[in-house]
Amino acid sequence: MRKKIVAGNWKMNLNLQEGIALAKELNEALTADKPNCDVVICTPFIHLASVVPAVDASIIGVGAENCADKVSGAYTGEVSAAMVASTGAKYVILGHSERRAYYGETEAILKEKVQLALANGLTPIFCIGEVLEERQQGVQNEVVYKQLAGSLYDLSAEDFSKIILAYEPVWAIGTGLTATPEQAQEIHAYIRSTIAEKYGNEVAENTSILYGGSCKASNAKELFANADVDGGLIGGASLKAADFKGIIDAWKE
Ligand code: PEP
Repeated sequence: MRKKIVAGNWKMNLNLQEGIALAKELNEALTADKPNCDVVICTPFIHLASVVPAVDASIIGVGAENCADKVSGAYTGEVSAAMVASTGAKYVILGHSERRAYYGETEAILKEKVQLALANGLTPIFCIGEVLEERQQGVQNEVVYKQLAGSLYDLSAEDFSKIILAYEPVWAIGTGLTATPEQAQEIHAYIRSTIAEKYGNEVAENTSILYGGSCKASNAKELFANADVDGGLIGGASLKAADFKGIIDAWKE
């Protein structure tokens, strides 16, 4: 059975003290009312070493929002996968559309990052998704296939099985626009079918595919109700404990 997951992406929000306070508040809320899914919070690099010990690892996993495409050395300002892992973080978001669009992250660069994340025991939360013009042209399947094949489909089946995917239509991120449950299900099913073609049915059935893009407590339940939607990657609504918990609770009856 594949995992149900709700993962938060804090992006470049919250200073260190605010981040620790949010992590503690969420930890308290989920200790009192245990989640029905895996919960992950992905924070800025500098928060990781403080947020990891602030939460119960059996309830909340912690991740980074990025890592370097190089092992170590003279890459001023970069943070390696090994450094992320040394904080106790277990996850790393890779391929977020903001990194692809604003920082020139190509499929080839992301391939390196994925391999380094896996080599250091981190679970990549790998983001794919089309921009509005591509959706309007009806080429969303081709776009996500290229992103998957370009960065992931050289992995062995064993390594691919360690990856969590997040389908995030770029037109829905931070815009208040959400894919309809039908749109989400359609493309999630397509993504799963390409995994099945490449790695076989068992790997495809065990891959968690999250939806991301203006997901909130009010729409999470209908999105998560779809057979191929295994949870959410949450931006804005992960910045307040009550909002994020509202989405986590969507997995409850
Ligand atoms: C994201 O950036 O991964 C995201 C899904 O953002 P939002 O929930 O704010 O649309």
